[in-house]
Amino acid sequence: MRMKVLVPVKRVIDANVKPRVKADGSGVELANVKMAMNPFCEIAVEEAIRMKEAGTVEEIVVVSIGPEKAQETLRTALAMGADRAILVKTDDTVEPLDVAKILKSVVDEEKPQIVILGKQAIDDDANQTGQMLAALLGWSQGTFASKVEIAGGKARVTREVDGGLQVVELKLPAIVTTDLRLNEPRYASLPNIMKAKKKPLDAKAPGDYGVTVKPRLKVLKTEEPAGRKAGVKVGSVAELVDKLKNEAGVL
Ligand code: AMP
Repeated sequence: MRMKVLVPVKRVIDANVKPRVKADGSGVELANVKMAMNPFCEIAVEEAIRMKEAGTVEEIVVVSIGPEKAQETLRTALAMGADRAILVKTDDTVEPLDVAKILKSVVDEEKPQIVILGKQAIDDDANQTGQMLAALLGWSQGTFASKVEIAGGKARVTREVDGGLQVVELKLPAIVTTDLRLNEPRYASLPNIMKAKKKPLDAKAPGDYGVTVKPRLKVLKTEEPAGRKAGVKVGSVAELVDKLKNEAGVL
């Protein structure tokens, strides 16, 4: 049986942009800042496309929960090679538990055999959504994947854990979250960007999935990291070793 894969993708501040904190410290400035698909979500889309190219997957559905502009992120995924998109539109801040609840309903409706998420979104660095979704669905999970092999109704997932690699075998349906080394995502070609404009994109709202978005966390303060102090030039290796020993305390 060829599988259906669901890939949730998040629109975040572009990874190449240096984030600036808002003057009132309430968060990161997003007005007029370049946004893009979360890099770990790009890896998730790429992995789904490779599964389709290998013949194990029949259809790739991408879903994003966010503002109208998250459509651009979905179109990027469609241009890379996904088949169909769902935008769950909301202008509210959606925390991982609400994202996971919405995704659970999408899974109940779409019935994919595998959901591939990023290990984390680089804006809030939560690293929670995949795990919460696995819990809500009661599915097995292979997080921080650097290799995924599908065979015989099972997924073998190589996980990047502290100090090495761990291989787990999951019964499908299952949740996988991507780590950096899983693959290198492709760029969408111009013809594929044009074709993606004609691929189906459904617009929904959290209410359609029975979820009322409600923040549970309160941000108290956001601060720029402390600036680095200027370096010094040393005259000799001996001086460097002396400074490392006596000033930096590393030797
Ligand atoms: P997080 O738990 O927020 O670090 O996000 C981990 C992963 O969950 C992301 O890489 C996405 O695959 C998915 N995700 C998180 N937030 C959203 C969202 N608003 N819309 C779609 N997918 C999301």
